[in-house]
Amino acid sequence: MAIALALLSGVVGGCWIRNFDADLEPDLVLISIDSLRADHLQLYGHDRATSPVLSQLGREGVVFYQALSSAPWTLPSMASVHTGVPPHRHGAISNSSGIDPSLPMLAEALRDGGYRTLAVTSHAFVSEQFGFARGFDVFDESIRADHTGSTSEALTEAALAHFVEDSDAPIFLWVHYFDPHYNYERHPEYALAEGPTGRFGDAIEFATPDGRELRDVSSSELDYMRGVYDEEIANTDHWIGQLVEGVRDARRGRAAIFAITADHGEAFFDHGRLAHGRDVYQELVRVPLIITGDIDRTIRGVGTRRPVETAAIATTLLGLAKIEEHPFAGIDLIDTAMSRRSPPFAMSEGSYARGPDGRKVAIMQGNWKLIHDLDRNRYELYNVQTDPEELNDLSKDPKSQAKLKLLQGAVAARSQAVRALRSKGAPKTRRIRLDAQNAERLRALGYLESPSEDASSGEAESAAPR
Ligand SMILES: [Zn+2]
Repeated sequence: MAIALALLSGVVGGCWIRNFDADLEPDLVLISIDSLRADHLQLYGHDRATSPVLSQLGREGVVFYQALSSAPWTLPSMASVHTGVPPHRHGAISNSSGIDPSLPMLAEALRDGGYRTLAVTSHAFVSEQFGFARGFDVFDESIRADHTGSTSEALTEAALAHFVEDSDAPIFLWVHYFDPHYNYERHPEYALAEGPTGRFGDAIEFATPDGRELRDVSSSELDYMRGVYDEEIANTDHWIGQLVEGVRDARRGRAAIFAITADHGEAFFDHGRLAHGRDVYQELVRVPLIITGDIDRTIRGVGTRRPVETAAIATTLLGLAKIEEHPFAGIDLIDTAMSRRSPPFAMSEGSYARGPDGRKVAIMQGNWKLIHDLDRNRYELYNVQTDPEELNDLSKDPKSQAKLKLLQGAVAARSQAVRALRSKGAPKTRRIRLDAQNAERLRALGYLESPSEDASSGEAESAAPR
């Protein structure tokens, strides 16, 4: 037994076997990592040493191998995590629309259940202005470096300072890490990028989210970009380890449970584009999802390939907090991991607000994935088990017609709802006017372009008071 316990001690530091009172509500930590595609983690099959900490946390926890983000960009995806509903319902789908204020939010439900609620975020989209602060006792959005510099260390230190200094009540802590988001900067201590190449030095700068200036990038330059992205992931992984260790070392006498995910992935011309925002291919919507820490022993080490949505995190955390009365629908991911109850489908919405060809809906059942391109009224069908890179469209394959019909039927209502947004806008959406600082930050990140360039975003904004 002693040997088994020793093997369970985590590489992340603090001893795994902790003393806590199982009758107390657990501390809950939600860690979201910007722009982290699942397949760049070792836990999800990557062959480079980007993420030893997340690998260890995954081994000690529950891993969802087919988790879909609700959208391929930050604002709608994270709003779904915190509201438990899809983007077309919460309405945070453009640079000028925040979360529907009538919707309950995860932090509110936890606070109502007796939790202290703390957030440390690092991106203009996950800010008070877009509605994310609702329900938080402390909402710290002071740490941002945007395209220059790294923030993982400062975020970790701020989060731990808030956590350690807080009261005896159970704590819900949300930390949003940003470093894997472009631009990518070297962290040479991880030695994952070979180069620099002639064109790129220690930072790879994206002029626009589409990387229009980078279209003629060579394959060796692309390898270098992926390597620098991997170094950003490795640096973030290290600081997540420090966060987990700091929470465990706080020894509050409570269990500590961590939910770790990403807001969306990142494309490297997998399907002709760079960065993120419009498409709903796997490189953009397949994200890591790990629930770990002091979870029930019987589910440690469980992994499932059943498709799930990160929007189910809210219901799941409320279940872990043993808060039974709450307004969130959705399936508890622990039930899915235990094969007790699974969602029939998982879906993701490419939002029209990210560009004129951004209206897409993806739906997954088992290994099958259908993409409905609403603007072209075109379907693509993939088997992500045999074709994980989605290169072989089976929508015309005679043997796949039954699956095609089934998924077309299942996605129809969602496609209709997303299509309706174009003409009506989201009725209860909170219209916002960006303050000068956030507007400048989003412009610097490439999210605010000239109105003509982001035509359909202009449509979304046309309903906003000016
Ligand atoms: Zn993001």
